[in-house]
Amino acid sequence: MGGGLAAGAVVLEIKPRAQRVRVVELVGAVALQAVREATAQLEATRRQSTSKEPALRRELKAWGAELAEVEAERDGIWEQVPPKAQAAYSRMRMQPPVAQVLNNQCSACRVTVTSSGMQMLRKGDELVHCEHCGRILVRD
Ligand SMILES: [Zn+2]
Repeated sequence: MGGGLAAGAVVLEIKPRAQRVRVVELVGAVALQAVREATAQLEATRRQSTSKEPALRRELKAWGAELAEVEAERDGIWEQVPPKAQAAYSRMRMQPPVAQVLNNQCSACRVTVTSSGMQMLRKGDELVHCEHCGRILVRD
């Protein structure tokens, strides 16, 4: 029975080692699978972004054209702004230099616009500045 015991001991000795090897193999397989999947995903993403590139370039070009249009429009509008208001706008250090009046308040600093300020705004003859932050006020 001595040999059997020895064989059993060998089996006992081998079994955990075999299991460890199996576990290592499994972990290795899982890791390899994960790497394969990640690589496949990366390649798919690369292919996708490459295939999307011409569309993105077209989009960028379209946006560039639209920007040029808007800039031209802005310049056109700017020319219609009275020189005094242009100067006031250019002098302004606050960004943005203009604030809308909402519920009788400067929308930038939330300070209530005086009734005389509101009156001037309604008339629209002169530029009205916020008494608190100094921004040029425009009606809502
Ligand atoms: Zn203000």
